[in-house]
Amino acid sequence: DFRSRSAFKLLEIEAQHLFLEKPHVQGVVDLGAAPGGWSQVVSRKLGWSREGKAPVRAPSGKTLKPAGTTQKSARVDFLDDSYDPLNIDDALHTLKGRGTIVAVDLLPMLPIPGVQSIKGDFLAPATVQKVRAMLARPENPGGKADLILSDMAANASGTGVRDIQSSLDICESVYNFAARNLRTVDETGDTRGGVLLIKYFAHPLLEEFSRRSLEPNFRKVHLVKPPASRSDSRETYFLCMGFKGDWERGTS
Ligand code: SAM
Repeated sequence: DFRSRSAFKLLEIEAQHLFLEKPHVQGVVDLGAAPGGWSQVVSRKLGWSREGKAPVRAPSGKTLKPAGTTQKSARVDFLDDSYDPLNIDDALHTLKGRGTIVAVDLLPMLPIPGVQSIKGDFLAPATVQKVRAMLARPENPGGKADLILSDMAANASGTGVRDIQSSLDICESVYNFAARNLRTVDETGDTRGGVLLIKYFAHPLLEEFSRRSLEPNFRKVHLVKPPASRSDSRETYFLCMGFKGDWERGTS
């Protein structure tokens, strides 16, 4: 009952590395979140929803198709400003999960319990400001993220060079955001530190980006290709664990 095949990739990476189902995970940002498979996984792991196909009901009382629907009118119904995912117990669910989950996409997304979504371009500074404002909630002490996920990819142009360049641009933007907004090892008061998971297209330029920006700033950087990811695609994930702080920028 997940909205995307990508959900299984996240579940597989989590099963191997166990970074999500931890009580200290309070702030999660899901970038390039639509249609919402990863956000559904996070919502469940943080206790906002449970497995199964519960009917989804709009605050108006109108019942929508369960997760997975692409019904356009349903999307529009939900995306008005009055929608507050932290206060819709009678509308969507009766569970009170923990923490703050923020999802961003260019496309609208049907609601998911506990997930606040922003429709916007993550590469635009205004969107980044909105994400930061949402993280700064009482439920999330310090206003930082414990986990930043990015499954963002630009539409494949068909010309390899452009696809690689846009993957690099996305990775750099996500890392720049993480450098300022991911909880560091020191802030967690122990040795955990925040975790960053970014999709990228395998290429020497991306490996160079990892050596330059990721490896110096995290305790461990894994290159992960989950079984659910097609083996003939370049798609791979950087799983960066234990954010030490960004030494180059001196923000730590
Ligand atoms: N993880 C998602 C899931 O499980 O449902 C699937 C994500 S899909 C592979 C990639 C998404 O990234 C698309 O929905 C696309 O709209 C989004 N995207 C690409 N560039 C973006 C940008 N600059 N800002 C926000 N979203 C972006």
